[in-house]
Amino acid sequence: MDFKKEKTYVMIKPDGVKKGLIGEIIRRFEQRDLKVVALEMFMPTVEQIHDHYPKDEAWISRLGQKTLATYAKYGIDPNKELGTDNDLKIGQMVRKWLIEYMTSAPLVRMVVEGVHSVDMVRKICGATIPGMADMGTIRGDYSADSPSVANSEKRAVMNLVHASETPQEAEHEIKHWFGDREVIFDYKRFVE
Ligand code: ADP
Repeated sequence: MDFKKEKTYVMIKPDGVKKGLIGEIIRRFEQRDLKVVALEMFMPTVEQIHDHYPKDEAWISRLGQKTLATYAKYGIDPNKELGTDNDLKIGQMVRKWLIEYMTSAPLVRMVVEGVHSVDMVRKICGATIPGMADMGTIRGDYSADSPSVANSEKRAVMNLVHASETPQEAEHEIKHWFGDREVIFDYKRFVE
């Protein structure tokens, strides 16, 4: 295992593209010595996004639990807002909104390579909920969205960027989005 060559999958979401942040997002990875080794703008199909996000109940329930946690924090009644307090049902709702959001504009997909790129990229992106992401992270600097607002508008949280959570997930997502196409490049930066 060459640690300098760890790869992760990153996708600039519709709000990142529409806010004109493509360059700024890529700049932050490159600034941290990470290397972009594949890059493309494209329009995803509903099916591709459906297959991108996990379909198992545990993942969907976790998505619902996140909404419930935010609602508890801000004293919002999930039954009043969403008609249920069941984490799986809420997770299924959020997953549907996520698919609508992710297919609403072109996306930018890329593979980013470098030392601990999976963790490093997640750190540069910041926490899932922009309103809670640290300043200095992409989500913390360019968005203030929150599930309480998003869900009342029946939509997913817009947080600019997607990044794989584990090296296993990265491998799966790189395969899903780039397949066997020969578009992942191997090159050296000047400092190398
Ligand atoms: P991350 O993208 O940071 O890995 P998750 O995998 O938990 O986060 O969630 C996937 C995406 O679903 C998030 O990036 C966000 O766009 C959306 N999302 C997460 N939680 C909620 C929520 N409670 N309400 C609406 N959308 C959400």
